[in-house]
Amino acid sequence: MDIEGFRKAGYAAVDAICDYYTNLSKRTVKAEVQPGYLIEQLPREAPSTGEDFATVAADFQSLILPGITHWQHGKFMAYFPAISTFESMIADLYATSVSNPGFNWVCSPACTELEQVTMDWMAKILGLGKEFHLEQGSGGGVILNSASEAALTAAIAARETALRELTSSEPGSTVSGGTFDVPDDLRAKYSPKLVMYGSTQTHSLGEKAALILGLSFRAVPVAAADGYALRGDALRKAIEEDVKKGLIPFYVIATVGTTSTGAVDRIDEIGQVVSEYKTISLHIDSAWAGVALALEDQRAFLRLDDINRYATSFCTNMHKWGLVAFDCSLFFVRNRKALNLALDATPAFLRSKEADTGTVIDYRNWQLALGRRFRSIKIWFVMRSYGVKGFQDHLRVGIDQCQQLSKLITASSSFEIVTPPSLSLIVFRLGGAALPADTLPAERNLLNTLLNNRLNARYDVFLTQTMLHSADQEDVFCIRIALGGRTTTMQDVEEVWAVVEEEGEAVLKEWRD
Ligand code: PLP
Repeated sequence: MDIEGFRKAGYAAVDAICDYYTNLSKRTVKAEVQPGYLIEQLPREAPSTGEDFATVAADFQSLILPGITHWQHGKFMAYFPAISTFESMIADLYATSVSNPGFNWVCSPACTELEQVTMDWMAKILGLGKEFHLEQGSGGGVILNSASEAALTAAIAARETALRELTSSEPGSTVSGGTFDVPDDLRAKYSPKLVMYGSTQTHSLGEKAALILGLSFRAVPVAAADGYALRGDALRKAIEEDVKKGLIPFYVIATVGTTSTGAVDRIDEIGQVVSEYKTISLHIDSAWAGVALALEDQRAFLRLDDINRYATSFCTNMHKWGLVAFDCSLFFVRNRKALNLALDATPAFLRSKEADTGTVIDYRNWQLALGRRFRSIKIWFVMRSYGVKGFQDHLRVGIDQCQQLSKLITASSSFEIVTPPSLSLIVFRLGGAALPADTLPAERNLLNTLLNNRLNARYDVFLTQTMLHSADQEDVFCIRIALGGRTTTMQDVEEVWAVVEEEGEAVLKEWRD
């Protein structure tokens, strides 16, 4: 494709995207296709000679779009939103137009410096303490691809911090030029004993980080009575048990806004426990809820003061509720030197004069991979176009809709709210007056599973289910409605709720008959 070909195809693509959004509400949310639908329609070999690009682009409409689940649809209320905005689409286009893997400042100074500035913007917007700011503090932020990558990166930094702490007084340990190398024999001695902690509500990213690092992850139980939040006492008990066994706690993941119910762990109590152990780092996973720290009136609920006091690192995803298209995960650390010590591997071919003199940041030392995408341009475009106020207004719409939905659920005699609404997430189930008080927990779960199956069989709505495990109650199967999507209106919310009520009544009728 030459420049004029791109001009033509580019305009046509923008037109097609505008038409897609204009007509999005007329589509079903879920793809009405069966497994293998696309594979059956595609040739098994790539074309040997080039095709006309208009044909290729037309195939996106006829072959790909039918197999797309429309996450930008107003009635998409599954998982959490993964919002796209026109500003971030244009930003991605510009970023790709100058495609480069920006791992060192010298690779493209603008990529590094825009990230430095926009991450400090976000730290301020979210109210993170000065230690997490690059310009004024000891830490700073980096954009990663996902909250999972952030938790893994934080775990690596935590492991190295713990090993340094454990081995610094051992014979054979060396500190040279600011870099501390833990000798292999000492690493082998301590590594197998390292344990990380989260709760039974921690996202699977905790287990996955442990799996990747070959370490163990302990899921500490939570109580329904505590709103499924991790408490300090439960964590302390687990840590003390492990220490008695000769194990070494090194990393705790606390969640601010759990995936299942939006629970906020007791960072105040957890922080207190963690601060008693020199080897433990505290990572806050706030992948979904963290952007709501932009709202001052939500900061107490989200425990901002405790985060600022105790957290070693903090992560939230702009690519969920934060108006920036996937991927854009914000990872802030209190101590950038500790992160760099853990991840800096610099062969001669990656050195640069600027980095050697310490005047620039090379973001490759803040992440797992070498190459990295130019993601900060998305934040820059979105935040400048919306302004902080526009960003806050957007968040408030989802929270208000959730409050209104909560009233609809409360008013229904067939449903009950399982945990209080958390920001824009609400968890509910069939129950209340519709079920006799002696209905067994297993039967309640079965009825709700039947409801979930009926909802899943529909294409016009998309909700997801969860199972809540706790120490003080039987497992609870329930359904989530995650609001906050950019195109979701109150009418969408009411229509989805009408579908839930209709399917709920059908389940109850079958059960009674
Ligand atoms: N943490 C929490 C609390 C989440 O809710 C999610 C996804 O919903 C994740 C982590 C995973 O995020 P990512 O896909 O960015 O790894």
